[in-house]
Amino acid sequence: MVQTPSKSERMEIRKAIGNRSIPGPDAGVRPRGSDYLVAHACFDCRKSWKVSEASAATCPQCAKALHWMGRAFKAPKKSDTEQWNKVERLWMAGFRFIPNTGWRDAEPYPERLRKVAAFIESNPEHPFRVKS
Ligand SMILES: [Zn+2]
Repeated sequence: MVQTPSKSERMEIRKAIGNRSIPGPDAGVRPRGSDYLVAHACFDCRKSWKVSEASAATCPQCAKALHWMGRAFKAPKKSDTEQWNKVERLWMAGFRFIPNTGWRDAEPYPERLRKVAAFIESNPEHPFRVKS
């Protein structure tokens, strides 16, 4: 049986690939509160926050712009520089952290930093990769 993406999954993909429309500050009531909080990370501070999609996301610690990670992002421990370097390299290469409930044939992200270069190389068309 072929599983089709749910509405929220489709939205997640659409946001990740960059053709989302972000409501302005006067867009009115937020649709569903905490459903719309998405992980954003600061690679300098090695921290992540759940931030509303509509807000201008800046790091509360260093005031730099936060990076939109996606709903499936799990922040590594602050002390785990290898994992932070890994997610930063993936992010910089366009990979976003989107919940995959099995409807896409997507290679899982590598566990270790040393595998990242090969992973990026062999996944130019990864479904969770933003085209630049
Ligand atoms: Zn920061």
